[in-house]
Amino acid sequence: MRRHWWQSYGNGSDAEGPGKCISGEYRIDLHIHVGKACGKPVKIPSSCDMTVPRILEAALYDKGLDALGIVDCNSRWVVADLDELIQAGDLKEVEGGGLLWRKKLLVIPGAEVEIDKDGRPFHLVAFFPGIVQCREFTAFLMPHCANVNMSTPRVNIDPGSLLRKVESLGGFSAIAHAFTPYKGYFGSAGTRLSPWLERAYGFLPMLEPGSYSPFGKGTTGHIALELGLSADTTMADRISELHGFPFLSSSDAHSPQRIAREFTVLYMELPSFEGVKSSLFGGSMRFQVANVGIDPRLGKYHRSVCGKCGSFLDSQAYANGTCPACGAKRPHFVKGVKERIDEIADLEEGNHPPGRPPYIYQVPLSMIPGIGPVTASRLSHALGGEIGVLHGSSHDDISRVAGVRVADTIMALRAGRYGVKEGGGGRYGEVWTYLPHSKHI
Ligand SMILES: [Zn+2]
Ligand SMILES: [Zn+2]
Repeated sequence: MRRHWWQSYGNGSDAEGPGKCISGEYRIDLHIHVGKACGKPVKIPSSCDMTVPRILEAALYDKGLDALGIVDCNSRWVVADLDELIQAGDLKEVEGGGLLWRKKLLVIPGAEVEIDKDGRPFHLVAFFPGIVQCREFTAFLMPHCANVNMSTPRVNIDPGSLLRKVESLGGFSAIAHAFTPYKGYFGSAGTRLSPWLERAYGFLPMLEPGSYSPFGKGTTGHIALELGLSADTTMADRISELHGFPFLSSSDAHSPQRIAREFTVLYMELPSFEGVKSSLFGGSMRFQVANVGIDPRLGKYHRSVCGKCGSFLDSQAYANGTCPACGAKRPHFVKGVKERIDEIADLEEGNHPPGRPPYIYQVPLSMIPGIGPVTASRLSHALGGEIGVLHGSSHDDISRVAGVRVADTIMALRAGRYGVKEGGGGRYGEVWTYLPHSKHI
């Protein structure tokens, strides 16, 4: 049985209006990359659209997010752009950390880095209360990497000292896109996280499952796990050690369109860095409301694929090392998250620990056949951003802007009445809906 937004949220026709969360609930996408800052490329190839001001506008107005994380604040160019917005009075530092843009959007500065475990690289993201801590973190990284100003620098550093540095600056960390075959911890570097973390921190920084009490009884390790597009909580909770970690859903967006394709809903009294940290990790306010993300079957690394002929490979075929369709050998295979979790899971079913929030599926407008960019933008601007369209608007609201057929489609997706062609090997899956009078839209 699929979970639906309105089971935890109300159906959008409540007093707060379309797309609005219950008071105190914040939609946050913590993993967004910058393409260019100060006119210089931060990421290559980069989307020229991904400047800091454009990201903020897209997140607030096109998507309807309440908070975001910019994960390239290791780059001095990105920090300079943020500084400029602070000087202009558009961006203000908040009590409790974080920055507020136009009094509405909470911005959490962060840095994604590539580190390795026994020669196998994976990505880790660190988040900080403010620019000052980002600068200090960057200075700490600088001697250990070739170019700290570019996105996701590879750092040659002992992971323990890196994680402890994040803690000492009041930050928290997350294992990025944990299951993806390239640069995800479980995808390429390890089959268990706890022993590595225990070595790195000197203790095991786990939550007491389901506990809303202070985190880890006085420990000081704050680390979450980002699910990535091809996994959901049910898949990840098949690895029992992960029951002790909060799960983040984030977009890893490199273009404005992809912002908020996955996001986390957190409860905070007031939006701030400390609010985010304590709702994830502890204190009296630990309260994560939901993970929202695309159906993992649509993720581009969901299934294992033969890179030569494109056929899907089940766990058996992968283990045999020969593609049953074309005879290609394992070096051509791209392992999928589904088969990877099958391989390393210790639980048959993804039983959730108490307190694990619901995972709510969504299909971003850009992945819905029959909805082009013009319709998508008209809908988003009329109905409180893409999030409002997908989760908070009524059939009437949508049909008034884009017609009955589009409204039928979005309602069908919301209700889980859709079919999927799975994704894999770097290609996204496809979705179609069952509508009256037509097989496909
Ligand atoms: Zn990454
Ligand atoms: Zn990233």
